[in-house]
Amino acid sequence: MDHLPPHKRRQLMQKIKSKDTIPELKIRKLVYSMGYRYRLHLKSIPGTPDLVFLSKKKAIFVNGCFWHQHVGCKDSHIPKSNTGYWKPKLEKTIKRDIKYHETLFLNGWDTLVIWDCQMANEDLLKNRIKNFLDSSSNYLKVR
Ligand SMILES: [Zn+2]
Repeated sequence: MDHLPPHKRRQLMQKIKSKDTIPELKIRKLVYSMGYRYRLHLKSIPGTPDLVFLSKKKAIFVNGCFWHQHVGCKDSHIPKSNTGYWKPKLEKTIKRDIKYHETLFLNGWDTLVIWDCQMANEDLLKNRIKNFLDSSSNYLKVR
């Protein structure tokens, strides 16, 4: 049962959101330690990806499972209270994400999404990042 009043719930969720930068910092450090260099949050690129590899035309998004509604993830459930606030808000984010990825793809960009819940296995992360950055494929991966 959710016993928090809506405004308290919102405050709590905003706190969770601000923690989303921790996985992002971890990915930055990891990618840097692997020898790749990148730009951060380039506003000129659709969706303002967290890490941008300009010469490769590749971008990495580090997504919070809740805010970006990771499909099938236990962390992506919509709060039971104040659904009228959360549902449209989260659906808007999903639609926006899809649009960004499509736009990037159509412009020849390759994207990788790393979800919060995938942060634990560093070896797996490294492999995924390496495969992504060293391959020359440009295919559409939205979710
Ligand atoms: Zn997840």
